[in-house]
Amino acid sequence: MEITRFAPSPTGHLHIGGARTALFSFLFAKANQGKFLLRFEDTDQERSKDEYVDSILRSLEWMQIKLDDDPVYQSKRIAKHKELAIELYKKGFAYACDCSEEVLTKMREEQIAKKQKPKYNGLNRDKNIEFTDGMVLRFKFPIAGESKFKDLILGDIAINNKEFDDFIILRSDGTPTYNFSAAVDDMDMNITTVIRGDDHITNTLKQINVLAALDATIPSYAHLPMVLAESGKRLSKRDGADDILDYKKNGYLSDALVNYLVRLGWSYGEEEIFSLKKLQEVFNLKDVNSSPSKYSQDLLDWYNNKYLNFLTSKELIAKVKENSGVDFNQIDNGELAISLLAKGANSLNQIAEESIYFFQEPHIKFDSLNIDANKKILFSEFSKQLREIDFEKNEIEKNIKEFLQANDLKFPELGKPLRIILTGRENAPSISELLFILGKETSLKRIEYTLND
Ligand code: GLU
Repeated sequence: MEITRFAPSPTGHLHIGGARTALFSFLFAKANQGKFLLRFEDTDQERSKDEYVDSILRSLEWMQIKLDDDPVYQSKRIAKHKELAIELYKKGFAYACDCSEEVLTKMREEQIAKKQKPKYNGLNRDKNIEFTDGMVLRFKFPIAGESKFKDLILGDIAINNKEFDDFIILRSDGTPTYNFSAAVDDMDMNITTVIRGDDHITNTLKQINVLAALDATIPSYAHLPMVLAESGKRLSKRDGADDILDYKKNGYLSDALVNYLVRLGWSYGEEEIFSLKKLQEVFNLKDVNSSPSKYSQDLLDWYNNKYLNFLTSKELIAKVKENSGVDFNQIDNGELAISLLAKGANSLNQIAEESIYFFQEPHIKFDSLNIDANKKILFSEFSKQLREIDFEKNEIEKNIKEFLQANDLKFPELGKPLRIILTGRENAPSISELLFILGKETSLKRIEYTLND
């Protein structure tokens, strides 16, 4: 059975890149009837914070990425890691090293002077130094040949072992290092496929060697190319939100975000719309693009607009109320009003913001319209006619058309000021729909307020 994991370091909130990695790991597990696990790599005591553990958990929950077991906290496994590091030492896969800071600095400086890549030169590799507390343990990295694996997205990856050094697996303070802990935890959690960012490729090559020394089954690896900003540069806080929960706060639907995230690097024929349920059936790694993808706020907005319009008006009302407190149930024709606004909106918040005129009179003064004073009479005429008609959408539309014709007017000459009178805004939905939803009484009250001003 496939077992995948997401292994965030809780040193920050879940951001776009992390959320995509978590999603792909989850979907891959589910599409293969497997399990998805979570491991907090929280060994950096200074930078890891409970606040981030909590926000990462809430982000995953919001995205409906469900865990198949309780999260694993790497910090609680340090004793186990230390034990295994010592075991590798006893078996000859690691060695004790007592090189002082000065020795290491000198080694580094000499290498830099010779234009070599600075790395530990194996000084103590064959000295059989007996390990005592306070010494570091270094991994005996194979000297000959190359380290390699077949990446499920990127294909064959191989690096000559000369490029690596005998990296530390246990620090002098007795704590394990990242590459050792991660390898041990993947082994103990029985991870079958590791899916993570391509910034971990070198780590993978190190971890594969550690796993081999531990006599563990080596999992498959899939490295996801980066998500870049639209400019092609690294995604910064200014581009995608730094905290996935900000999207929730700003009125994005989790289904829309998930659909958007999956399309950051994965495609499935020409299809664009995927429910989470469908993704759990059809997601695969072979269709993940091997080159970086770019974050696009416009595309995310497009998805959110689509998903807002998949909702019924009742669902929209509930969501807008939950997100911003604006309650469309308090106005006449609330369901029609919210559906109308959803057509052009990119977020729940935008619907709430633009809805003000359904709740409050805009009180527009005629002078502020910047139109000829003699047009006032036209508007009076128009409002008189409105008073007479049956307030049905078609009737309203017909009446507007006839009025324009009879007075030899172009639509904007009436439509533009009328839209401002009714809503206080220049950009608002169709006039006939607005009139209909506001109703005869409210519409006329607003027009008359402006004319009597
Ligand atoms: N903790 C690592 C990170 O946040 C992830 C490592 C992994 O997935 O193996 O980048």
